[in-house]
Amino acid sequence: MTKTLRGIPAAHRLLADPRVARRAGVLGAPAVKAAVDDALARARTRALGGEEPSFERLVADVSGRLDAAAAAALHPVLNGTGILLHTNLGRAPLAAEAAAAMREAAAGYTNLEVDLQSGARDSRQDRVAALLRDATGAEDGIVVNNCAAAVLLILDAFARGRDVVVSRGELVEIGGGFRVPDVLARSGARLVEVGTTNKTHLRDFERALTADTALVLRTHPSNYRIEGFTADVAARDLVALGRRTGVAVVEDLGSGALVDLAAYGAAHERTVQEAVADGIDLVAFSGDKLLGGPQAGIVVGRAAPIARLRATPLLRALRPDKATLAALAATLRLYLQPGGADRIPLYAMLRATPDALRERARGIADALRPLAESAEPAATTAYVGGGALPQSGVASFGVAVLPADGNPNALAARLRRGDPPLVARADGSVVVVDLRAIPPERDRDVVAVFERALRA
Ligand SMILES: *Cc1c(COP(=O)(O)O)cnc(C)c1O
Repeated sequence: MTKTLRGIPAAHRLLADPRVARRAGVLGAPAVKAAVDDALARARTRALGGEEPSFERLVADVSGRLDAAAAAALHPVLNGTGILLHTNLGRAPLAAEAAAAMREAAAGYTNLEVDLQSGARDSRQDRVAALLRDATGAEDGIVVNNCAAAVLLILDAFARGRDVVVSRGELVEIGGGFRVPDVLARSGARLVEVGTTNKTHLRDFERALTADTALVLRTHPSNYRIEGFTADVAARDLVALGRRTGVAVVEDLGSGALVDLAAYGAAHERTVQEAVADGIDLVAFSGDKLLGGPQAGIVVGRAAPIARLRATPLLRALRPDKATLAALAATLRLYLQPGGADRIPLYAMLRATPDALRERARGIADALRPLAESAEPAATTAYVGGGALPQSGVASFGVAVLPADGNPNALAARLRRGDPPLVARADGSVVVVDLRAIPPERDRDVVAVFERALRA
């Protein structure tokens, strides 16, 4: 019996095996050690039952447990999809300043709801509202958990049991099940559709307004475009109609750009400042799309309707936490500094030139060529994502790899299970890793993950 137990390897031998050791990067050394201890305990039981210990079987056992743990955990991944704001990959990466502020707020106490001058209680909304005013030109602002919550709060505060007028061209479903008609129904508001799918005129809105009308809602048709013979009503004309009739005009902008994307080589996207300048009463947008901040829903606009949102009981259920508010404030502060937007990863990614990306792609392809059937730099198209600019891509570069076994889908799956996981595009003939959403300092990790996946 003692003889069999002696064949069981020491824990340090298993921990030193590269197939086990590299998992520590994603899961942490304690989790790896725990999996090794566990596997050894089971091997001892089997050995006492007469089974010959096998090092390979132990490695497979540890790997299996760690794979399951990795699949269950949330951990960093490399985004090789070329979609910069990828909802499934967590949308916007934060600026270093925002991540630091988030960490600091999360790890300790903050003056979340206290005025340190007077010692009196105040609102968690107060400090961020001042930044929202400065960054957007609006009279006031409020923050909730996401843009869907912002729209729900607005409807709850203004439109329960009343009419909301929406153009038929804007009755959209945005990714993840956010459908304008459904959100309206949820909030107890009545949807009044006007116009047609491709054309809506000011007179359509004029005719629909009654004493029961609470709001006119404009929605950014985030993920599609209607082309051909189209007409919609200019925001300023809707605002003028709203002022004449005493009906508030709300715009769900979705993306919430504070800078002109045209300056970053993409197509122009309506900015929050433009919506505010058009006189829209309430403008709703996301924190983690083109703003490049944490997940949040932001409403800016005129002081009186924002005050009404603050007084709505539902706000309590939608309020953001201290870490989100800290990260959002740090992100907004960047917009108030000259050149500060370029410190936000999304804008740094958009700034990268195709030449610089091609150079990086060449370096990675050179390193991988000996291990693959082929590995070459490839011109690609990256997308901003997050519901912005659905049809307007940004010229980019990536690495296109064909593995020796000729199976790109299997390679993509191994990359996805890599350490760190690398999410690539497999188009059926090659695996393509677009470099625009990968920070240049991570190119070595891209090579390492590919090397392991190509050797497997
Ligand atoms: C993305 C989007 C939403 C939802 O935003 P979340 O922050 O994900 O809740 C709502 N409306 C529009 C127009 C959008 O583009």
